[in-house]
Amino acid sequence: ASAQIGVTGLAVMGRNLARNFARNGFTVALHNRTEARTRELVEQFGHEGDFVPATTAPEFVAALERPRCLVVMVKAGGPTDAVLEEFAELVEPGDVIVDGGNAHFEDTRRREAALRERGIHFVGTGISGGEEGALLGPSIMPGGSAESYEALGPLLERIAARAPDGAPCAAHMGPDGAGHFVKMVHNGIEYADMQLIAEAYDLLRKVAGLTPAEIAEVFRGWNEGRLDSYLIEITAQVLTHTDADTGRPFVDIVADRAEQKGTGRWTVQTALDLGVPVPGIAQAVFARSQSGRTDLREAAASLPGPHPGGDGGAGSTGTARLPEAERARFAEQVEQSLYAAKVISYAQGWDMIRAGSREYGWGIDLSSVAAIWRAGCIIRAAFLDRIRAAFAERPGLPTLLADPEFAGELGRAQGAWRETVATAARHGVPAPGISGALAYYDGLRADRLPAALTQAQRDYFGAHTYQRADREGTFHTRWGGDRGEVRP
Ligand code: NDP
Repeated sequence: ASAQIGVTGLAVMGRNLARNFARNGFTVALHNRTEARTRELVEQFGHEGDFVPATTAPEFVAALERPRCLVVMVKAGGPTDAVLEEFAELVEPGDVIVDGGNAHFEDTRRREAALRERGIHFVGTGISGGEEGALLGPSIMPGGSAESYEALGPLLERIAARAPDGAPCAAHMGPDGAGHFVKMVHNGIEYADMQLIAEAYDLLRKVAGLTPAEIAEVFRGWNEGRLDSYLIEITAQVLTHTDADTGRPFVDIVADRAEQKGTGRWTVQTALDLGVPVPGIAQAVFARSQSGRTDLREAAASLPGPHPGGDGGAGSTGTARLPEAERARFAEQVEQSLYAAKVISYAQGWDMIRAGSREYGWGIDLSSVAAIWRAGCIIRAAFLDRIRAAFAERPGLPTLLADPEFAGELGRAQGAWRETVATAARHGVPAPGISGALAYYDGLRADRLPAALTQAQRDYFGAHTYQRADREGTFHTRWGGDRGEVRP
């Protein structure tokens, strides 16, 4: 036994993680169901470090130093269960099996409990950063026992991305499903972030009449400021790309139907179960679904309303381009709105992590989540360092919006933000993310919500009772009778 870590499942993610471990000086045992992949890896990248290729699972396990740490990077779902079962038979109590796939945290909880019974540490870990991240440094969100992190942590911290302050973007999130839960919410936030960026683009295009190349310039400018992030950076790249066949902006030749692999949906489903309001994430998931409903879109295409132009597409009225000074002013207004809505989405994401942590007793450090998302992952952004600082200073911060710095920014942005929402509505540009975020902001700020009326209605038709604002207790009004109030 000579390998400190093993990787089984050598498709893009597994292969790149294995190379990352090797490049960082670890001896890596390799295994894949189809042996050709193992051979290919060694042929192509064997020079990058020390690899111990294994043909069979027992050979792979035998190659590992104790306690054994092996990373499973196979297709999520059934294949992961099958592979875990196979390796559970081969390892010994005290060994650590890591699932780096995109598992649902409930599956991770189930697998962790089953393997714990057999004395095996099971670590469900979120890994973000895609193929490139896996190779050059991903953001790593491991769950599982504290003991397993003692063995595994130093390895993961070596291969993880580094935040600007040099800290590794890997940290123990909490027991059993905590890591995969945090990864799930990461993806939910990613959906929300992408939706907001798309809305900002759409507004600049259709209201201000900017070209994709000009919008790329605007985004590049934003990327120098508080919106500095990977997603803004790649958006600028995409917007400058021209389709080789037609010479048209690439964004205009891509079919406008967004797809999803399901982690955004999981986030919303889980939020519903936990009773956590994450409308920003939900809006983003639904916006993708709606874009794909060609049947609905065709049926509704002739409904009256403004058809903002700028894209030259069918039905475009070719909205006049705003004069230059107004264009700059509008871009500034959209920046304020995008930033404010982004803060709201992140606030919702953190609220959800706290709720999950409470529900499952994970004790997740909210500051640490922000710290390990500062680099390596898809939502990496400069402002995550400020979220880290906010929760480090006040771990009990009820919401990010209660942090004085973020609250101040939202306060200063809200005028422009309201303008943007009104402009979007007037021009017929759908902006569910930006406008929904404003509704969330106003919903939390409100002195009184019409939830009072909802409660009254519920009591009317279902005797669901209500509480009074002026007095303790639970009440019911005899709506069908004398309308007297009783305490049931
Ligand atoms: P895939 O999800 O495409 O899975 C392919 C790998 O799974 C191959 O090694 C394949 O082996 C193996 N496999 C499939 N079924 C079985 C089985 N029944 N028994 C044994 N091995 C099996 O690979 P990716 O590299 O894209 O992803 C790996 C995991 O990482 C997935 O869970 C994915 O969700 C997750 N992930 C992916 C990211 C990405 O950007 N791609 C980002 C973050 C996480 P064989 O070669 O024999 O077919």
